[in-house]
Amino acid sequence: MIPYGRQHIDDEDIQAVVEALRSDWLTTGPKVAEFEETFAQCVGAKYAVAVSSGTAALHSAMYALGVGPGDEVIVPPMTFAASANCIVYQGGTPVFADVEPDTLLIDPIQVERKITPRTKAIIAVDYAGQPCNYDELQSISNNYNIPLVADACHALGGGHSGRRVGSLADLNAFSLHPVKHITTGEGGVITTDNEKFASRMKLFRNHGIDSDHYQREKEGSWAYQMIDLGYNYRLTDFQCALGLSQLKKLDQWVARRREIASRYDAAFNGVTSVRPLKVMPNVDHAYHLYVVRVPAKEREQIFRSLRAEGIGVNVHYRPVYLHPFYRQRFGTKSGLCPEAERAYEEIITLPIFPGMTDEMAETVIEAVKRIGHG
Ligand SMILES: *Cc1c(COP(=O)(O)O)cnc(C)c1O
Repeated sequence: MIPYGRQHIDDEDIQAVVEALRSDWLTTGPKVAEFEETFAQCVGAKYAVAVSSGTAALHSAMYALGVGPGDEVIVPPMTFAASANCIVYQGGTPVFADVEPDTLLIDPIQVERKITPRTKAIIAVDYAGQPCNYDELQSISNNYNIPLVADACHALGGGHSGRRVGSLADLNAFSLHPVKHITTGEGGVITTDNEKFASRMKLFRNHGIDSDHYQREKEGSWAYQMIDLGYNYRLTDFQCALGLSQLKKLDQWVARRREIASRYDAAFNGVTSVRPLKVMPNVDHAYHLYVVRVPAKEREQIFRSLRAEGIGVNVHYRPVYLHPFYRQRFGTKSGLCPEAERAYEEIITLPIFPGMTDEMAETVIEAVKRIGHG
């Protein structure tokens, strides 16, 4: 089976983890701070806060903004459930704004329509690795004074108008899950230029306690206070050692993803039944996913035939509000976001990952063209 995504671990990564395991610190030690500094520099942000997952990163961002009961947060439906769940964790209400049909990125016009006096934040999802329309979103955010959060879990290594993903929104959340661009097994990071947000999130990931164990040890102090209700969302030192080692290879891996994507683009150019998503001219796409649209009535058969040939296709995503939990809790129904619903019937994710060879890509292309036409 050619999977839709796969991690890449080399001897250098293994060595880095082994060294961290032999050191004095397994968790909340020097590797965490080193990883955070390196990550922040890499994306062009002032601060990075490492946490235990991308979901924890999004939850921490909602906490940093003070999202609570009665607050609404605007989010697109074409995403992984965690993008909306983070709002619900804090007692807030997700308000779904439809996506643009060509890119499946949140539509700024729909965002503006969904703003009410209760809107506390806007979450933009860089679907498939393509950064959203941050020029428009930032101007809405400024005009209405509503903070902008990027769910950048698909887009590490990407950019928009010459700026890097991680520096495009007030808070930017990343996942370090094995299918994402770099991995720490499980892990997440939030980047921001706002010092207050960064320190709130450091508090939140550590039970709401105002200093961590490493700091206290350095200062020779035992005193700490728990000043708010937080969680244990910490990332370990050996995970951060892996993250540091992986980060060195990010550029090379994103470049490889782009090579595979341009192979796919060229191959499907002119094939009317297989339509790749549109890429905007001012973006550097990070290609977490390569998504094509096929005729809705053939999608299931194409999907099954590709799977039967060992091609690990997938579907990203069912609109979040159509999941039973959302229907029951928020009364959401079909018809809420027609573009996302239409896309959901037509999309297929093709394999793309840095270790994918040209031969594998050709195997996928040949099968998609043959089956897509049948
Ligand atoms: C992967 C992902 C997440 C969650 O990340 P985890 O590390 O799995 O918790 C959130 N949002 C999007 C868009 C994702 O792809």
